[in-house]
Amino acid sequence: MADFKYSDGTKRYHALDYYFKKKYGAKVFKVSLNAGFTCPNIDGSKGVGGCTYCSASGSGDFAGDPERSLDEQFEAIVAMMHKKWKNASLYMPYFQAHTNTYAPVAVLKKCFEPFLEKQNVVGLDIATRSDALNGEVLEYLEDLNKRCDLIVELGLQSVFDETGRRINRCMSYAEFLEGYSELKSRGIKVCVHLINGLPGENKEMMLASAAKTAQLKPDFVKLHLLHVLKNTHLAKEYASGEFETLSLEEYIDIIIKQLELFPPETVIARLTGDGARAELIAPLWSLKKFEVLNEIDRKMKELGTFQGRLYSNDR
Ligand code: SF4
Repeated sequence: MADFKYSDGTKRYHALDYYFKKKYGAKVFKVSLNAGFTCPNIDGSKGVGGCTYCSASGSGDFAGDPERSLDEQFEAIVAMMHKKWKNASLYMPYFQAHTNTYAPVAVLKKCFEPFLEKQNVVGLDIATRSDALNGEVLEYLEDLNKRCDLIVELGLQSVFDETGRRINRCMSYAEFLEGYSELKSRGIKVCVHLINGLPGENKEMMLASAAKTAQLKPDFVKLHLLHVLKNTHLAKEYASGEFETLSLEEYIDIIIKQLELFPPETVIARLTGDGARAELIAPLWSLKKFEVLNEIDRKMKELGTFQGRLYSNDR
């Protein structure tokens, strides 16, 4: 741990909070928004029904209410944050729900540009899929990146295409890599999402996904726990006993081993998933998010390990 420099001493991994505080000297709050986009994996252009774990809100359970304007969503969430954290000062609108580059550039501009004028907004965080990044969109993102602190989030979930088929991802690993390279060649920061506990995957596969992703040296990574949510295809598979969810002990073991594989520079933007309480079927232990995070810290300390311990860029 002595040589792990991306921490204030409380975490043994490069936490997002630490990254923002170093960069801006203050806490930066992500403000989750729902711009009402759809997804190529829902509207039939790539697939229908979406990924098997996707809830109706398109992985945006905590995003704002799409019935309200983006500005209203933003202001309502910021007001809520101010009640909880008196000193909240800097913000990053997070376009979270569904696929947020899946529209003509003129529509994207209407959604994104007004936030660049807002006080205390340091940048934009845009979640999307690799197959929703056409030439025009990439050109626009490149321009946006010159005008604000831009992060583009790409869902990968697993490097295994057999898993991709099983979860109806309707996108190959090769397609993911294409989108990733397009963004990186334009100097855009990318956050890659992986999910642990997907049906048909064992621990070795989850570690292999992390190891391969680590070799890309992503700017950010989100390591999720698979949540089984009500009214999803996954809920039916779970009910019929087709797979089991991870236990807390298994999850912590996998997360720590994954953190060891990532380069120290990669910022860990998430280590659990936030399943909507009312929608969550399993695993219920994940509702105690802070206990899970504390247990990861405790176990890493006990093991004397830290992010990047096993990282090597010559695999
Ligand atoms: S890519 Fe995201 S929004 Fe689209 S179906 Fe999959 S989880 Fe849902």
